[in-house]
Amino acid sequence: MTAHRAAYLSAPVNALLDGLYEGTATVADILAEGDLGLGTFEDLDGEMIVLDGRAWQVDNTGTAREVDGTARTPFACVAPFRAETVDEVPPGTGIEEAIGSLIPSPNMLYAIRIEGCFEGLRVRSVPRQEAYTPLVEVAKRQATFDFPETEGTLCGFWTPAFLGNVAVPGCHLHFLDTARQRGGHLLSGRITSGRIALMHLPRLNMALPMTLDFLTARLGRDAEAEMNVIEKDR
Ligand SMILES: [Zn+2]
Repeated sequence: MTAHRAAYLSAPVNALLDGLYEGTATVADILAEGDLGLGTFEDLDGEMIVLDGRAWQVDNTGTAREVDGTARTPFACVAPFRAETVDEVPPGTGIEEAIGSLIPSPNMLYAIRIEGCFEGLRVRSVPRQEAYTPLVEVAKRQATFDFPETEGTLCGFWTPAFLGNVAVPGCHLHFLDTARQRGGHLLSGRITSGRIALMHLPRLNMALPMTLDFLTARLGRDAEAEMNVIEKDR
């Protein structure tokens, strides 16, 4: 039934670009909509990784800890993940390149889970922020972490470019290592061995926050240009 085959967004990402970091949903709300995904936390307090129905917070030292259902988020995206295809790629393949080679169409949403060993992995996390600091400013203060060799899980989404105001376009993946102790938002890396599981998502459910900040925000930023600064390796 396709009703279950949907991505869930707790808010459009352009609200985050505008510095709206107030939590508008709880982790419990998010986990009710899906068991795999990513996001951030209230006050932009680190990176969220959702895996197997549990949620972790990666702080700005790159340390991961599991959070309970009461933690709040201004932006998260999850899906009820069921792998439809599982593929291996040649050792040394770039992560984005590997996904690009496996998705049948760039115009569909896909949930992605990669279990494996990685090299040259670079991830980042963000420090807690005052509200209304535009995300593009915050990104200048992000902490990056390099893992020459590591093992763990990447999870997230491929989002069509035309959804760039509501979700991060292209590949958006968060990493959690096997020990569940380190992680972050993926900037770059290669797969040395592993399996890429994909699920296509022909529907998108999105909540629109009923907060004064959201209802009165002027959401006219150039989301695509700012995303390229914030979410990609430079
Ligand atoms: Zn991210």
